[in-house]
Amino acid sequence: MRIRGINHPYLDVSLPAWNNLYQLRNFVDNLSDVTASDADGGPLEVRRVGSHTWHIKTDAVASLSLRYQVYANEPGDFYSLIDENHAFLNGANIFLYLEQHRSVPLRLEVAGLDPVWRIATGLDQDGSATAFRAQDYDHLIDCPFEISDFHKIDFRSHRVDFEIVYHGERGVEEPEKFRSTLEPLVETSFQLMRDVPLKRYVFIYHFTGGKRGGGMEHRNSTAINKPPTLKPITSARNYLGIAGVSAHEFFHLWNVKRIRPHHYVEPDWTRPIPTPALWFGEGFTSYYGSVILLRSGLHSPARFFRSMADRIGGIESRSSHRTLSVEEVSADAWRYTEPSYLLPENSYSYYSKGAVLAFLADLKIRSETKGRRSLDDVMRFLNWFYAKPGKGFEPEDLPRVFSSVCGCDFSEFFKNYVSGTEALPYQEYLALAGLELVRGERTAADFGFEASSNHGEPPIVARIDEGSPAAEAGLQLGDVVLSQYRGVKAGEELSLKVLRGGEEQELNFQTGKKEILTIQIGSLEDPSPAQHQVQRGLAEGDREMMSGEQ
Ligand SMILES: [Zn+2]
Repeated sequence: MRIRGINHPYLDVSLPAWNNLYQLRNFVDNLSDVTASDADGGPLEVRRVGSHTWHIKTDAVASLSLRYQVYANEPGDFYSLIDENHAFLNGANIFLYLEQHRSVPLRLEVAGLDPVWRIATGLDQDGSATAFRAQDYDHLIDCPFEISDFHKIDFRSHRVDFEIVYHGERGVEEPEKFRSTLEPLVETSFQLMRDVPLKRYVFIYHFTGGKRGGGMEHRNSTAINKPPTLKPITSARNYLGIAGVSAHEFFHLWNVKRIRPHHYVEPDWTRPIPTPALWFGEGFTSYYGSVILLRSGLHSPARFFRSMADRIGGIESRSSHRTLSVEEVSADAWRYTEPSYLLPENSYSYYSKGAVLAFLADLKIRSETKGRRSLDDVMRFLNWFYAKPGKGFEPEDLPRVFSSVCGCDFSEFFKNYVSGTEALPYQEYLALAGLELVRGERTAADFGFEASSNHGEPPIVARIDEGSPAAEAGLQLGDVVLSQYRGVKAGEELSLKVLRGGEEQELNFQTGKKEILTIQIGSLEDPSPAQHQVQRGLAEGDREMMSGEQ
């Protein structure tokens, strides 16, 4: 790292402790051997002054070089990995920043590249295929790098150049099908937001490595990981699996990346920044991920309602939804690394409850305005008003915006269901679209233990029921569960591979039986024209399209 134009007796350089995952990950544990030298190679004094920060005495030099090593061997899209197959770099794991100059422009050069490897990133090139420029540090770390002999498919939509970059042995057997799955998602999203806020966007997919699946949003790119258990991407089902996470990450382009809580405008990267608004950032993005699939024709209305019913079931089956508001679980996102925090009595998903709140609010606005307005107008207003450099919304702005778009009062909705823990008024709101919630029960396997998984990582045993076959078989708290066990039925033999103290063990026991809640969304008989209108508006969006430029 070369730093020029220094005008200070010292410099502090730091590495972030988190990135878009909202949890402390202490990337600094993988960084070592920080040294600094002046233009002639003379050493400068470097001292570690905090868990994430080094203090460099500049000795009044105008420029200096900084060298350090990073160990990068974690697959998945939240981390970095360099091996013989590829390099995937998440800037927050790798690049130090200057505490006093986080906003200066940066230039990055990649050296020592295998001649068959190329570089994919959202950053623009700076004079060569291996040099890039970033307007500041936050821009740099919001543009991950895939460096390998990846495959690439290009397409253009609304004058935006899209790159689909994918890497891994279990690749895509029909690239054309891959492109034609993603293209309508992008088109639907632009139509929905009536906004095209960029010139280039890169979808990076890894079809190899790691046990976890998932995706991470960035300002003009996303990195999506499908675990190696996924079969080659040939069946329609697999394309749809990828479409779901892709639609979610692409919608983040607006919600979170441009419409941001003020907490995340130039945040401190070295400490937790809790916000009560993740139900909005993640939950509304989950809702719109499903809406985009519906309006793109990739999901049927039945499938859309099933995805909403599954989310309702997910919330209702966790007792904590009666004691914790969705603002509280949002602010607690930083505790997701604690397995016991993820037990049903201690937390629930702000993704799911946020998505359900979006669904209910959308039905309410559509019904109150007789189809003239919808939640889409809320998102477009927020985008118009808040998507500006240095600007973020305050959580208390939301009820005002919702009320003004709807022309109706949303303050009780926010007080009861966002800040409060009142039971959600499913039947009342679903009826606005001629729908109803149907509760039932079914028999499911009782494993005798609960294991919690942090963002797709292997689950960790967080509770064992006393006297259960799992307890008798010797399962222990903290065991990392390596087997896929969720599909095992009641009364079946379970052979569970676990990792304990670095060693694999196999435990065999029989699962018990328990009754669990099921939720479905059904249709009311003889819906009125008004109810029809709400449902149709949801499925079609508004007919007022953007002028059809490509
Ligand atoms: Zn997300």
